[in-house]
Amino acid sequence: CGIVGYVGCKPATDFLVSGLKRLEYRGYDSAGVATVNGAIHVRRSLGKLAALEAVLSENPIAGNVGIGHTRWATHGKPSVANAHPHQNEAMDFAVVHNGIIENYIELKNELQASGVIFSSETDTEVIVHLLAANYQGSLIEAMQATVERLLGSFAIAAVSSDAPDTIVAVKKESPLVIGKGADGFLLASDVYAIGEHIDALCYVDDFQFVELKSSSCTVYDRALEPVFINWQEVDHHA
Ligand code: GLU
Repeated sequence: CGIVGYVGCKPATDFLVSGLKRLEYRGYDSAGVATVNGAIHVRRSLGKLAALEAVLSENPIAGNVGIGHTRWATHGKPSVANAHPHQNEAMDFAVVHNGIIENYIELKNELQASGVIFSSETDTEVIVHLLAANYQGSLIEAMQATVERLLGSFAIAAVSSDAPDTIVAVKKESPLVIGKGADGFLLASDVYAIGEHIDALCYVDDFQFVELKSSSCTVYDRALEPVFINWQEVDHHA
């Protein structure tokens, strides 16, 4: 239902949790965050964000890059196992997703036939396994190959322990906005989640790929050619 991402010079979880709180009004059944700090660390909880905050204060996760999600279940009951972020078996990728993958059963059968073990009932989980299967050293190329297999609607953000300073994101028929501010780059499904932290924003188009790093932001087209980013200034007094 909601996505946030942060990469910059500050601890990511602060930005992720405050962003998710701003999306609470949209409704959700569970929530989770992932940060990259050498390895990928994931914390998830059922119910209110206060429950996720309790999990995080008990078991904090460090890292200056991270992704977060509030889930409104479409496939698979509300549960911790079905909450995002989802990971592959080797746990070197994590993915959050808004929307519905219409061909997930076909993809799941194919992945299971090749030996992949699933840990949730969601449509989303096929994305992280495809990403891992397609990975040959470039996260954005793996995401491009993955997206070409997906039918349905999606806004996806992913991190990899192999690309410790990077978030890759892409969308089709689900909203996604990127922003830049003094503390780094952010992304969200709704500008309201990140507005207070950014000075400029840009709405991502369908099949554009975003690569956020702590010191750069690049947007690519479907063929992975870089495109001009038309940053719009954010007026904090409006
Ligand atoms: N279809 C996904 C799920 O059920 C994502 C739902 C959402 O957008 O929150 O896990």
